Amino acid sequence: METSDFINFAQSLYGSKEVALHAPIFMGNERKYVNDAIDSTFVSSVGEYVNKVESTLANITGSKKAIATSNGTSALHLALLALGVGSNDAVITQAFTFVATGNAIAYTGAEPIFIDVDKETLGLSPESLKNFLVKHTTYDANGNCVIKSNRKIVKACIPMHTFGLPAKIDEICAVCRDHKIKVIEDCAESLGSYYQNTHTGNFGDLSAISFNGNKIATAGGGGAVITNDIELGARIKHISTTAKQPHRWHFYHDEIGYNYRMPNLNAALLLGQLELLDKFLELKRDIGQKYKNFFSAFSDIEFINEPDNSKSNFWLNAILVKDIKERDRFLLETNNAGITTRPAWTPLHKLPMFSNSLTDPLNNTLELFDRLINIPSGVPGAAL
Ligand SMILES: *Cc1c(COP(=O)(O)O)cnc(C)c1O
Repeated sequence: METSDFINFAQSLYGSKEVALHAPIFMGNERKYVNDAIDSTFVSSVGEYVNKVESTLANITGSKKAIATSNGTSALHLALLALGVGSNDAVITQAFTFVATGNAIAYTGAEPIFIDVDKETLGLSPESLKNFLVKHTTYDANGNCVIKSNRKIVKACIPMHTFGLPAKIDEICAVCRDHKIKVIEDCAESLGSYYQNTHTGNFGDLSAISFNGNKIATAGGGGAVITNDIELGARIKHISTTAKQPHRWHFYHDEIGYNYRMPNLNAALLLGQLELLDKFLELKRDIGQKYKNFFSAFSDIEFINEPDNSKSNFWLNAILVKDIKERDRFLLETNNAGITTRPAWTPLHKLPMFSNSLTDPLNNTLELFDRLINIPSGVPGAAL
């Protein structure tokens, strides 16, 4: 494929000369709701829009409980705290993820461990996970899975549904269950994605969603924890709101809490976006199919399609080129032409703060970093 073939195709797909990687689109009730929140004077951490967002999210995902948070990173942090993760623990995640997943683990004082992804889903590989656990862990007297070298308890595992592609989440959960490891799904990118017929986020103990400006629906900044465990849900709400005991006027906080709630102003914007989610999903699927057809004509490019038995939200489309040289040439030529493309995240174990972490060989992660490119995937304004 010539890069110019791709540039022409992206320009015609989006009906413009310059194309963003993923720009938000506001085409519903967003302005009306934000104005209403301002008029009500409830712009901060309590308000009707926060409640509405929480019930809407529970509905969309089919989960029992959703707790709106200040962002996706705080949602991950809260999920780890609610499971009691601390400095005597280790938490497994994938090396191929956004830095926030690793940061949230580090905030708790736990040790992050980075495992490989599989090439089909780009999510945590259940085989790699199992191999790592067999090789590096044993059980302590209480039956906890502990790292052989430092006796830290492997308390949780955070698989991530990369770019909206559902990971092999039932296999991952089965391996974790066998080792008494709790599962937090990082669904930051997977709102509207289904594994088999169940919305992502319903397989683990807790899940985190992000509503950052580049995600499929945005609050400006925001996130949510979803869960089917009512007790864990109540605990998360408590610690996300300064651990204040409810009372009409007294301020009594029963532990160190966090100010991680979503402001009502952001919830107002988000409610408008969530009402559009089905439309966004339809338009993004259409873009994904058009890319798939386009790239099928070129043998030197591989389009990453949704895995079998899954329904992706097509949040961020990705292709694989031959090698890192081709990748860098493609990135330069497309970005010079005003078509925004991006390489994958630097694998987390290559970042200075995580460079001493335990890992497995990470063969797929390293290959994906060399070969993967994200291409424009937003909802095309011209299509509306
Ligand atoms: C966006 C993202 C987050 C963090 O969300 P913020 O709302 O930006 O804090 C976490 N994990 C992944 C995989 C993400 O893509």
